[in-house]
Amino acid sequence: MIRIVTLSEFPPDVIDFVTRRLHAAYGMGCELEGEGEIPADALDDEQSAYDAVKVVDEMDDDVTLYADDKILYLTTEALTAPPGPMGLATAHGLADKGVPLEVGLAKRAAHYVGHLWDLHHCFDPRCAMHPGWSPGFAAYPEVALCLFDREKSERKIKLGSS
Ligand SMILES: [Zn+2]
Ligand SMILES: [Zn+2]
Repeated sequence: MIRIVTLSEFPPDVIDFVTRRLHAAYGMGCELEGEGEIPADALDDEQSAYDAVKVVDEMDDDVTLYADDKILYLTTEALTAPPGPMGLATAHGLADKGVPLEVGLAKRAAHYVGHLWDLHHCFDPRCAMHPGWSPGFAAYPEVALCLFDREKSERKIKLGSS
């Protein structure tokens, strides 16, 4: 199960869109777990963005984690995000040019969740594992995985649930 915790307010249809796309991409249940609050002292030194690792470390939520569960934090705040700890991902919803919030958010969410299953960056611009900083990422707003990444994630999910 992929459990979503929101750290900012999102319209319900945005969350709905993201959960559907994640479910379609990974064939795994995905639901909204609840709301959390960003710890204020997770702001970075320049006060311009939140340190994603600190956010996750200092989060006091009572989400119950089962072995094969993944938690995804969603926020509209800017984040500085080195790879998250095992089982946790953060995706920020900063709008990509010309792409609606929910579309960019769903693709970023699928990307970060993919990293939780050890998916690496992918050369295929249509694949959700294509790096987010590449222009190709926003050029293909559909959430899709290339065959290689789809098969790899299926293997990881099977291993995790056995
Ligand atoms: Zn990445
Ligand atoms: Zn790929």
